[in-house]
Amino acid sequence: MTELNKGATIGIFGGGQLGRMLVQAAHKLGFKTHVYDPFDDTPAGRIADNQTIAPFEAEAAVEIFANCCDVLTYEFENIPIKAIDHASQFTNVYPDKKALQTSHDRLVEKTFLRDKADTPVVNFAAIETMNSLSEFVHEFGAPAILKTRRFGYDGKGQVKVNSPRDVKAGFARLGGTDLIAESFAPFVREFSIIASRGIDGSIACYPLTENVHKDHRLHTSIAPADDPQNVSDEAHAITNKILKALDYIGVMGIEFFELEGGELIVNEIAPRVHNSGHWTQDGGCTDQFEQHIRAITGMKLGEITLKHVVKMTNLIGDEILHVGTLSQKPNTFVHDYDKRDINPGRKMGHVNEVISKV
Ligand code: ADP
Ligand code: MG
Repeated sequence: MTELNKGATIGIFGGGQLGRMLVQAAHKLGFKTHVYDPFDDTPAGRIADNQTIAPFEAEAAVEIFANCCDVLTYEFENIPIKAIDHASQFTNVYPDKKALQTSHDRLVEKTFLRDKADTPVVNFAAIETMNSLSEFVHEFGAPAILKTRRFGYDGKGQVKVNSPRDVKAGFARLGGTDLIAESFAPFVREFSIIASRGIDGSIACYPLTENVHKDHRLHTSIAPADDPQNVSDEAHAITNKILKALDYIGVMGIEFFELEGGELIVNEIAPRVHNSGHWTQDGGCTDQFEQHIRAITGMKLGEITLKHVVKMTNLIGDEILHVGTLSQKPNTFVHDYDKRDINPGRKMGHVNEVISKV
C-alpha cells in the first residue's frame, strides 16, 4: 500500500478511550475518522467524523463501514475475528487478523511467543479439569495463576493458586470456561515496551516503561525506566522478534516481567495502543496514537526520542472528579476520556506529570 492521502478515512472498531485518542491523533494528521461500536455516545464515537452503531456481528453494517474507510484498525482485542475477516474483503485492516487471533486467547498467545517468536514465557498449560490443574501445580509448583483464556483484562478472570490446597476453590471460581494455568513469575519489576512497525517494515520502539499495578490493574507508568543497558537491549531484541514473527503493522504493547538478576519473561502482547504508553502524549516525542496512525496509513514512523521523564497515573472511578485541582499543578497534564458514567474501577482518564528533562 502506498501512503494514504490526507483526507482519507480511518475506520476504528471500538469507541472507548483508546479509540478516542486515535481519533484525536488522526484528525491532527489531517485524516477523517469513522468509529464502529455497538453503543451510541461513546468517547470515540462522539468526536469522530462519522459513526456506525451496530453489533460487531452485523455483517451488512461491517461491509458498509469497511467500504466507507480507506484503512481499518481496532482499539481492543476482543473484536470478533469474523468481523475483521469480513471487513478485510473490502479494505486493509492493520494490525491484521494474525495479530488479533494470537492475542485473543492466552493459550494461543503464549504458544506463539514460545514456539514461533522464540521468546521466554512462564510455564503454562491448558486446563480443562480440576485434575489437570492439580497436575500443573504438582509439576511446576505453587503459586500458579489460573486465568480465563479469553476476555480477561485489568486482572479480571484470574485466580492465584497459592498451594495445592487452593486448587479446588480456584477451579470452582473459574471452571466452566476455557482456562490456562501459568507459573507465578517472581518478578522484581514489570515493564513494557510500546513498539511500532510500519508498512515498509521499519521498526521504532520507545524506551522501556516501568509499570506498577494495583489490584492487577495498571496504576502508574514511568518512562524512561532506569535500566541497565543489557536489560534494555534484550527487551528490544525480544520485541523485534515478536513484531517480525507476526509481520506486524501498527503499534503494539508488550508487557514484561523482570526477574532477579535481569532475566526477562514476556507476559503478554496487545495488538494496539496500550495504557502504559499514554505518557508518550507528554514526552516530547511522537505519541503512540499518532505513531499508530502513521504506521497504518503508510506514513514514515515518527520520532521516538523523548525529551522528558514522564509519570502517568490512571484516574479510576471518582478520581476523575479531581481533574480541576490536578490540572492546576505545574507540569501536570490531564487527559479526560469524557465518559458519561463514573463507575468504581472504571478508567476515566489519566494524568501525565513531567518530572524532569531526560
Ligand atoms: P490482563 O490482561 O488483565 O492485563 P495479565 O496477564 O497482564 O492480564 O495480568 C495482570 C497482572 O497480574 C500482571 O501485570 C501481573 O502484575 C499479574 N500477573 C499476571 N500473570 C502473572 C504471572 N504468571 N506471574 C506473576 N504475576 C502475574
Ligand atoms: Mg496485562
